[in-house]
Amino acid sequence: MSKFIFVVGGVMSGVGKGVAVASIGRVLQSKGYAVSAIKIDPYINVDAGTMNPTEHGEVFVTEDGDETDQDIGNYERFLNTNILSDNYMTTGRVYESVIHRERNLEYGGKCVEVVPHIPEEIISRIVRATKKADADIMIIEIGGTVGEYQNLLFLEAARMMKLQNFHDVLFVLVSFLPVPSKIGEMKTKPTQYAIRTLNSAGIQPDFVLCRAAYPLDEVRKQKIAISASIFLDHIISAPDVDSIYEIPINFEKEKLGEKILKQFGWSPKTGVWNLNDWESLVSVIQSANDVVKIGIVGKYFKTGDFVLKDSYISVIEAVKHACWRLNKKPVIDWLNAESYEEDKNRLAELSNYDGVIIPGGFGARGVEGKILAIQYLRENKIPFLGLCFGMQMAVVEFSRHVCGLTDAVSGEFCPNSTTPVIHIMPEQVQNIRENRYGSTMRLGAFPCVLDERSICYNAYGEKQISERHRHRYEVNNVYRDILERHGLLFAGISPDRRLVEIIEIPDHPFFVGTQFHPEFKSRPNAGHPLFNAFIEAAINRVCRGMLF
Ligand code: GLN
Repeated sequence: MSKFIFVVGGVMSGVGKGVAVASIGRVLQSKGYAVSAIKIDPYINVDAGTMNPTEHGEVFVTEDGDETDQDIGNYERFLNTNILSDNYMTTGRVYESVIHRERNLEYGGKCVEVVPHIPEEIISRIVRATKKADADIMIIEIGGTVGEYQNLLFLEAARMMKLQNFHDVLFVLVSFLPVPSKIGEMKTKPTQYAIRTLNSAGIQPDFVLCRAAYPLDEVRKQKIAISASIFLDHIISAPDVDSIYEIPINFEKEKLGEKILKQFGWSPKTGVWNLNDWESLVSVIQSANDVVKIGIVGKYFKTGDFVLKDSYISVIEAVKHACWRLNKKPVIDWLNAESYEEDKNRLAELSNYDGVIIPGGFGARGVEGKILAIQYLRENKIPFLGLCFGMQMAVVEFSRHVCGLTDAVSGEFCPNSTTPVIHIMPEQVQNIRENRYGSTMRLGAFPCVLDERSICYNAYGEKQISERHRHRYEVNNVYRDILERHGLLFAGISPDRRLVEIIEIPDHPFFVGTQFHPEFKSRPNAGHPLFNAFIEAAINRVCRGMLF
């Protein structure tokens, strides 16, 4: 029988619930148990694919092609395992299947009601995902915060599961304890209220993770324990850390893993399991001080007056992993593509970087700025990694400035162009015509065959690779010949040779563009082969003294 841990948020969002889930999972894994995790997003969207990144953050793509929440990426990175589509749920998805079943007369003539049919569907999805992942322990993160209308039905499902399997289900509340600057004292009251709100949904938390700027002291632990009837040693201090990768180590210090297992009536397995690899990773993170400076040219940064880096989280993490592997300290700067359109002189700032990434993107805004940046990186021989849209814009740039196709564009922002060097994939035309945008891109893992002369072949060390995709446009095969004649190397293509997957410029220290998103497969302890090669090239640039 599997065990289930529901993790819910209190007080406010954005305090690291996803990372807490991933960290609890990592700690339990280190005690010898198979752990998986589910993300529940209470919004109506069927998946995250139709949302603007500034609205939602990164859309994380799974191996089996689901467009999910960025927390799934945290689970993959911390648990070192692929999380599949079954582990992602939204209100839209749950309702869609209940309505579908009702239309098929699968409720046998019953009145189909919000309660119990929606919670029942939620429970059956959790059980199915747990079986499929073959997990001893499934951690289920309920998005949002308690008290929100939208996650009530998910809390109801959690409550019902507890009722059915009392000893196999437990609840963790991730709360936040503010320290108002004028008072200078950590306040527990919002947490007490969050627990009361959870109680009113029929749920008593077994553990409270207290997120705060500082460690939680004994006095406050007692206050929460007494006011909410929770064991004192189940109130866990979770202070801010410099790196999220420190969190499993902090949880281990609080013996959270053992306490959770004890509540389930289990104990740590004896054998080879431990957190040693994680501890060495953290010691590299803390000690590396040899800087590698990476610029990311993008556009999904701003929400109101605040800069939001969430849109590119997997790219950021992949850069970090590759740097740590070589004992380097990554420093990442955000460069706004549109600023280059306003003033070309700003391009010179790109020379301050050891390497520059142009990540994925959609639509026309910022495009010309990205193309200008790519031209600068190509001509000044600065290591460049283009991811999906970044690769497509590299092809446009090369077409314009090397092949002399001055009008070259992507069909995405110029549908009637005469020189669409990037064009819509034939199988996508119908989707766009019929406004079918939801989960209709080319999604998930596809194979790619590497050219043995390429940097990529050298990086991966194998002829055939598999990487995750999320796109509607591709390199237009009509232009393959002219691009190749002018020196572009198609370093990776699909096994049927129909799709360009990777481009490279051989006469450059590192100029690589991928139609896929390697960042989704990067893991903290090893890094991703392409990011590793990119960071190595960036380090070589520093060593050659090319920085000025
Ligand atoms: N907008 C481009 C396409 O649909 C690139 C997508 C991306 O960068 N993920 O092909």
